[in-house]
Amino acid sequence: MGKPTGFLEFTRELPKKRDPQERIHDYKEIEMPFSEQDSQRQSARCMDCGTPFCHSGCPLGNIIPEFNDAVYEQNWEYAYEILSSTNNFPEFTGRICPAPCESSCVLGINKPPVAIEFIEKSIAEVAFERGYIKPTPPTKRTGKRVAVVGSGPAGLAAAAQLNKAGHTVTVFERADQIGGLLRYGIPDFKLEKWTIDRRLAVMEAEGVEFKTGVNVGVDLKAKELTEQFDLVMLTGGSTVPRDLPIPGRELKGVYPAMEFLSQQNKRVSNRPVEVDHRGVAYNDGDIWATGKNVVVIGGGDTGSDCVGTSNRHGATSVTQIELMPMPPKERATNTPWPNWPMMLRTSTSHEEGCERYWSINTKAFIGDENGNLKALRIADLTWQNEGGKMQMVELPGSERDIPCELALLAAGFLHPEHNGLLDDLGLEFDDRGNVKTTHYQTTTNPKVFAAGDMRRGQSLVVWAISEGREAARAADCYLMGETMLEAKAVSMLATV
Ligand SMILES: Cc1cc2nc3c(=O)[nH]c(=O)nc-3n(C[C@H](O)[C@H](O)[C@H](O)COP(=O)(O)OP(=O)(O)OC[C@H]3O[C@@H](n4cnc5c(N)ncnc54)[C@H](O)[C@@H]3O)c2cc1C
Ligand code: SF4
Repeated sequence: MGKPTGFLEFTRELPKKRDPQERIHDYKEIEMPFSEQDSQRQSARCMDCGTPFCHSGCPLGNIIPEFNDAVYEQNWEYAYEILSSTNNFPEFTGRICPAPCESSCVLGINKPPVAIEFIEKSIAEVAFERGYIKPTPPTKRTGKRVAVVGSGPAGLAAAAQLNKAGHTVTVFERADQIGGLLRYGIPDFKLEKWTIDRRLAVMEAEGVEFKTGVNVGVDLKAKELTEQFDLVMLTGGSTVPRDLPIPGRELKGVYPAMEFLSQQNKRVSNRPVEVDHRGVAYNDGDIWATGKNVVVIGGGDTGSDCVGTSNRHGATSVTQIELMPMPPKERATNTPWPNWPMMLRTSTSHEEGCERYWSINTKAFIGDENGNLKALRIADLTWQNEGGKMQMVELPGSERDIPCELALLAAGFLHPEHNGLLDDLGLEFDDRGNVKTTHYQTTTNPKVFAAGDMRRGQSLVVWAISEGREAARAADCYLMGETMLEAKAVSMLATV
């Protein structure tokens, strides 16, 4: 703890955001830079609380009080050393993590919590600027060859750790660029893509090989993969979207959110908009929200990203609807501190303009004579507790049509694609359809490991990095009989 009275002297401050009316005209990051002095003042708010619950609130077990202390002392190099001992990519989590650590910060019991996420971003940015982040290839190679399938945060973290352990790592990605959902899901206004390129340059210099445009299971068969490599790490994400099979689903103007979002990320990076993030051709070519009434179906992160992107396209109106009831404005009593709170969240995209409605049932997409979407039929719901189970009941007379020329389905993802690679490898699936493992090792093939959304189900970047690191440790043990890779220090408190 740098300053014993810091939490009494300073209030929580976050970086300023660009004006919504300015930022909806571009795809640049929303937050303005946080100066070193701002970060130092915020780090001074970290108390000597004794039991830092933030450690276990962070899925990576980041050692938060220690890096706060180093920032307060302006010892940025040491701060980065502490942070990078648990997190391979703080420049990503410092920008897009929902920061469950802050929900379990002890100061947060009766005051606004320490601004941990932005301190983390500052440490990463200062470390890059001052050259503290240098390629550090392993001094000895083990001679073992590892294939990582999928280049999202789980695959990148696993690759970085396995390379550090001295294995020769090749990352295969079917898309035309590395990064998974960091690249082709999360919009640039949340995560500009130069941040990924900057990290990939370090990993390449450390010896990790990246191969794009390789759909493993098709271009490289499962049998070749297991024959050519000593170990296979599957990190292909959760890619089967939850559909909405109601009348009119086939109309032009109804699309899965990921088609819309991945196209826009491609435009920003001047890539051809021909195939989606899976390498599959888009059905109806370019999808634009310009001049349309847009309805986003689904209230989560993906939905919020569709809202922000639609406003940047110049939509006439943007409405987001959700089946579930509106969450409470404050922390709900069933998620007391230090748990991740169940509560209403308003994103920067919502601030830019959007009508939000909860407890809405979607009944049908209505088309015109040319097969184009023109309206969405909805009805209001109430949720009733029947024998301890919440049941939805439609409110009589509430059915109505709202104008809508573009509907984006953002109701989440079911599980990874089973056909092809996973079936060819003879893998088992858990009851949610994710790859079944015992401590990251698949239950049917001992040289095949899995991590990230493909194993855990759709989740967060911070969990993907954590899974990639933990799976790499288990894989290194399998290959070498022991491992020197860092173990996660704490058991997890919060699940987000
Ligand atoms: C729109 C959107 C916004 C999000 N926003 C946030 C956010 O703000 N904060 C946050 O923490 N989380 C967010 N998430 C969740 C987060 O992005 C994911 O949890 C995380 O990226 C999962 O990482 P992963 O490495 O497991 O998989 P992914 O990132 O999905 O990467 C998997 C990669 O594997 C590739 N692949 C799959 N099969 C094959 C194959 N056979 N051959 C070759 N390559 C293959 C895919 O092309 C993909 O690139 C968001 C998700 C979405 C969809
Ligand atoms: S990775 Fe996320 S949860 Fe962990 S310290 Fe950073 S902001 Fe907090």
